[in-house]
Amino acid sequence: MLSLLVVEDSAAYATLVDAMLRQALGGALSVHAAASLAEARSALRSHNIDCVLLDLSLPDAHGLQALEVVQALSPSVPVIVLTGNEDEELAISALQQGAQDFIAKRRADGELLVRCMRYAIERKRSELRLSHQALHDALTGLPNRMLLLDRLESALARYHRQRRALALMFIDLDRFKTINDSLGHEAGDELLVALAGRLRRMVRPSDTVARFGGDEFVILCEELHGQDEAIHVAERARSVLSAPIVLRGREIAVDASIGIAFGGPEVSAEALLRHADSAMYRAKREGSGIALFEAALHEAALAALELEHALRGALERGELELHYQPVVQVGERPQLFALEALLRWRHSGRGLLAPEEFVPIAEETGMIVPIGAWVLREGARQLSEWIKTGVLPPSTLLSVNLSGAQLASQAARRALEETLAESGLPARNICLEVTETSIAGDERATVRALSQLRELGVSLALDDFGTGYSSLSMLRSLPVQAVKIDRAFLRQAADDEDLARMFGAVLGVVHAASLHAVAEGVESKAQLSLVRAAGCELVQGFLFARALSAAELPRRVSKLVGGGEASR
Ligand code: C2E
Ligand code: CA
Ligand code: CA
Repeated sequence: MLSLLVVEDSAAYATLVDAMLRQALGGALSVHAAASLAEARSALRSHNIDCVLLDLSLPDAHGLQALEVVQALSPSVPVIVLTGNEDEELAISALQQGAQDFIAKRRADGELLVRCMRYAIERKRSELRLSHQALHDALTGLPNRMLLLDRLESALARYHRQRRALALMFIDLDRFKTINDSLGHEAGDELLVALAGRLRRMVRPSDTVARFGGDEFVILCEELHGQDEAIHVAERARSVLSAPIVLRGREIAVDASIGIAFGGPEVSAEALLRHADSAMYRAKREGSGIALFEAALHEAALAALELEHALRGALERGELELHYQPVVQVGERPQLFALEALLRWRHSGRGLLAPEEFVPIAEETGMIVPIGAWVLREGARQLSEWIKTGVLPPSTLLSVNLSGAQLASQAARRALEETLAESGLPARNICLEVTETSIAGDERATVRALSQLRELGVSLALDDFGTGYSSLSMLRSLPVQAVKIDRAFLRQAADDEDLARMFGAVLGVVHAASLHAVAEGVESKAQLSLVRAAGCELVQGFLFARALSAAELPRRVSKLVGGGEASR
């Protein structure tokens, strides 16, 4: 039986419609009449209406307002608009706004009305089916990306009003591709359907589980009691997903990585999705299963990215500069022995940056190779200028730090050859410093690369000695002539008798291997005495000088070079 609502303020016309329809359809019809929008509202609430016949000129509604109200109250009920002579145009607007049909009042008869009704009901059904298809994933029947975004947007609007915690979880199955490839796509689909069902059953009815694509699902939870509750949901999700499932006669278990992001002031739907996605990647990378999006981490990652971007042009823009820290030979009178070239970046917005802030990025991205080559050339150019102008004695060494990437790529060798040719500085004036960690990879290849550098006539030093693991054995296998004892060592040794003894022991090993030793990080007279007592004559540290800019160096080192020959 069809149930029709006639919304029409003219009682006479309403009765006419009723009569026409009864004649055409007989008993298979129940007609409800409403003389105003208010009456229409209450009829829609209290009856199951299959179709609405709507006159747009009502005492309590103007223009398309009545249509809007009916659609909002009963979005799945078809509406046919009844029009008078004058308002054909309004009828067209009504169609554009989603009414299924319109009929001119004076032309209506029973047959036409019935045909229109049947047609409207059918059309509405297929509209609903299409919109369901457009908003749901065909395989699992879960809401798709579009519907999720829509729900997320309304959830965020509620969140901004009420501030009840809202969490978005991005779920990605681990190794789904392997399953798909080994058992076939159909099995993969079956798995996705099963897992979608598990997720759907696990959450509250008010939560949304959506399929976002491939093997990615998203859960939207509103009105949580706090972040713990969200983590709880994520843990449950991981455990229901990983329960074994039999596919093609094989039992498999699927792990998932989940990233959680929480609603916050001024967070948009897209941003929240991106946040949950990036947390998911972190969960995957760290193997932690679940990770929360943290704004601080996000900002750190962004800052690193920005820095990387800026660093790409720093060399060409001339923003890199070298400072030089003296290495002093202590004796009766301290003498300048070497200068260690230390990289600085004059960042346009942030001032002078220390190497800790950007050398790791340069190493990760490979930019250290051209940057390192520049350090070598610029350092050599500067030293040979100082020697030529008499600022420094000709015996002064230039120490340059080399990164692992420079060694591995053979770039160091080319850069060194160019430097020697260009600057005219004798090779014996250059010392290259390498750390244990920078040579950790393929030891034989490293030894070969170092030997090639050594053949060009430079000396080599092992930097930061004492911070790695295989220090002592390394000393024997590497073609180095000097060792720089890390300042961490000394920092502890100064106030600890045992460590002081250890410093002596390390120095004994270095000397036994016939290598020079440089003590790094000598900041106090007490440390200097300790170092000298142990028999180390080469020191570098704030007690003598910090790293100096090229402009301030000549004046600052004049005491260390003034009078007498600098000895080596
Ligand atoms: P490093 O090779 O161990 O360089 C010595 C670092 O110790 C310098 O820091 C220096 O300023 C600091 N230092 C020296 N004496 C003292 C002291 O008495 N007390 C304290 N607390 N610190 C002292 P800087 O210039 O910040 O360099 C840090 C690191 O950056 C260097 O450690 C080196 O590993 C790296 N680096 C610097 N320039 C380059 C470069 O051109 N290429 C590469 N690959 N790495 C570089
Ligand atoms: Ca160094
Ligand atoms: Ca060092």
